[in-house]
Amino acid sequence: MAKLNENFSRLEKNYLFIDIAKKIKAYTAAHPDAKLIRMGIGDVTRPLAPVVVEAMEKACREMGVMETFRGYEDSGAGYEFLREAVSGYYKSFGADVSPDEIRISDGAKSDCGNIIDIFGAGNTVLVTDPAYPVYVDSNIMSGNTVIYADSNEENGFAAMPNPSVKADLIYLCSPNNPTGSVYTAAQLKEWVDYALSNNAVIIYDSAYEAFITEKDIPRSIFCIEGAKRCAIEICSLSKTAGFTGTRCGYTVVPNELVQKDSAGNDVKLADLWNRREGSKFNGVSYPVQRGAEAVFTPEGQKQTHEAIDYYRENAHMIAAACDELGIKYTGGVNSPYIWLKCPNGMGSWGFFDYLLNEIQVVGTPGAGFGKNGNGWFRLTAFGTHEATAEAMERLKKLLK
Ligand code: PLP
Repeated sequence: MAKLNENFSRLEKNYLFIDIAKKIKAYTAAHPDAKLIRMGIGDVTRPLAPVVVEAMEKACREMGVMETFRGYEDSGAGYEFLREAVSGYYKSFGADVSPDEIRISDGAKSDCGNIIDIFGAGNTVLVTDPAYPVYVDSNIMSGNTVIYADSNEENGFAAMPNPSVKADLIYLCSPNNPTGSVYTAAQLKEWVDYALSNNAVIIYDSAYEAFITEKDIPRSIFCIEGAKRCAIEICSLSKTAGFTGTRCGYTVVPNELVQKDSAGNDVKLADLWNRREGSKFNGVSYPVQRGAEAVFTPEGQKQTHEAIDYYRENAHMIAAACDELGIKYTGGVNSPYIWLKCPNGMGSWGFFDYLLNEIQVVGTPGAGFGKNGNGWFRLTAFGTHEATAEAMERLKKLLK
């Protein structure tokens, strides 16, 4: 008889967005004419940049010609041209990351979960609460002990290390999903110092780095001195360049990142990650990697930032409506998310139902991201201007 991974029974019953989808389905079945405005799931809506499309078209044509056709990529780590481009991008904001420290992936979600393969059983994993659900779920599936650092109103939703708490792995995400908060360089330095003094490893999710507008907010943990000795960074083109349906990301495991095995030998984590990926991952398609390369060209940066600026305008609209209604919120400045406090002491699922039923606006209940999300609610800026403006008008009419 096949033995099952019974850790699955320790997971929350349903993935957050499945619960939301069910509620929407029930509502639309009962109200088929309702004009729903979806500000829940963090998916983008702007199309790919023209330079990206052109690069992918050209690459597809190369694949149809004997002389330029490509099969498996030799290294599996991603084509040199893309790893060079990502390395240059890192350098542009002050992080020294070399191409051989980068592996190209099919996105950040899979790597956030897969990276656990290189760590042994029994680690204590610290996750800030609230958090993107993948960190907790994938560690529970692996049987790890998950502990939490509170991100709440008091600390501006930026949990800081507690020296009396010992963790082996630490997940950080800045700009944060769901709260939109960011870590300053001084705060990240505190985390790096904590990790170095505890021989812990930080898994840093920078999927929203392209949304950072404030000059002194680090775009990468590798902008912080010492981070290359204690951190892995996972990033994605999903939100940077609208690749949610195209799929491409990258993970940086620095050459300096070394931990001891149980026999006291130094082990380079990059060697383990390369070994893991070599066995279980066959790389990202050539056309997608060419499209990704185009993102990092000057024209690609200009075009992708036009989409980010578009979303930023939506974030301003949401923030302005909250200001007008006297609703507290974080985010929106360096992030496509507005994290707002549910008015009148409502719980976050109660507020979800209230908005769905009264004004047909769909957001994401904060409680789905952890206990500190209770009473909070996430709205995303990924819609169109028209839908965002309409949703904010409905909200203002409802709550004024
Ligand atoms: N990390 C965070 C914090 C996210 O919010 C998301 C997606 O919403 C991801 C990673 C996953 O991105 P990808 O589409 O690259 O898998």
